Amino acid sequence: ESLINRIAAGEIIHRPASALKELIENSLDAGATSIRVVVKDGGMKLLQIQDNGCGIRKADLPLLAERFTTSKLSTFSDLSALTTYGFRGEALASISHVAHLSAVTKTKSDSCAWKASYSDGVPVPSKAGQTPDPKPCAGNDGTTLTIEDLFYNTPTRLSALRSSSEEYARILDVMTKYAVHNPNVSFVCKKAGSSSPELSTPSSSDITQTIRLLYGHTIAKELVHITSSSETNDEHGGDDDPESWTAEAYFTNANYQAKKTVFLLFINHRLVESPRIKRSIESVYSGVLPKGASPFVYLSINIHPRSVDVNVHPTKREVHFLNEEAITEKISDSIQSKLVGQSQ
Ligand code: ADP
Ligand code: MG
Repeated sequence: ESLINRIAAGEIIHRPASALKELIENSLDAGATSIRVVVKDGGMKLLQIQDNGCGIRKADLPLLAERFTTSKLSTFSDLSALTTYGFRGEALASISHVAHLSAVTKTKSDSCAWKASYSDGVPVPSKAGQTPDPKPCAGNDGTTLTIEDLFYNTPTRLSALRSSSEEYARILDVMTKYAVHNPNVSFVCKKAGSSSPELSTPSSSDITQTIRLLYGHTIAKELVHITSSSETNDEHGGDDDPESWTAEAYFTNANYQAKKTVFLLFINHRLVESPRIKRSIESVYSGVLPKGASPFVYLSINIHPRSVDVNVHPTKREVHFLNEEAITEKISDSIQSKLVGQSQ
């Protein structure tokens, strides 16, 4: 049974960066404005994330790493919206099956923090013979999750990993993208024992400033911006219309020419991949940029959660959604008009 659990976990957690993505999303869901990550050995030895979010209640700690435990049920009126958002209560459970997981957490109303460690979905006692109750300890408001020895019991997953520096590069890439999407949140990432972080953003800066900080001045000074949305009118539309959507993009103009496209796509605030949307936008640029030149594009689309394809497992990064083609076309057209208008 534990082998099956490990295999299932490996389908959700592929590498340190995919574990980190889940943890960042949890921290953001918890309302954090500060996310600090410490990494050892590309995240294979240690991956620690500290946030200042709402914390986890002591009473919820024993179930934290149990499959399909989610505190997010009450936030959503229907279950399909919940699952399509990617809230399935599988991330921490999966991690606990393939790594040593521990949590230190404190809510505002708690007078101290609580610590618990997990293995195979359940809390483990810190000493043999003891009950695995959460232990009181010192700590700030918020949650620190520590993942150690990722895939120590999953040799096939472990052997599929690349070098520490490559895994670290992927971690930085995920953090960089979430930092762009959340300019009001401070992100810090550093290697264990090092005093200078590789990545550090302040909170409350605007998105262009964050892009400048993370991707450089050359990109930032050529950025243009569009918003796009479904045409909702008074008769139908509104928040509950499954066909309504909004999008926002920051992208480089024709003055900027990179060798490879940098494409950041967020759907409902989740970092995802969509080769189709990427291709569509690249084809807009092929009419504006010389052959071989590529843009930087950040695109955030918000659609009704029920319109996201439920047949695609939400932990898969590639998504599909209702009216995808029409929405993509409208966004691409809007990007094109802006680019053409700019170059005149
Ligand atoms: P999901 O995010 O799908 O609910 P996870 O396995 O990622 O499932 O997390 C399980 C639960 O643990 C969450 O629903 C949330 O209640 C709690 N949780 C996880 N990380 C944090 C965090 N950083 N701050 C507060 N609560 C958290
Ligand atoms: Mg989660």
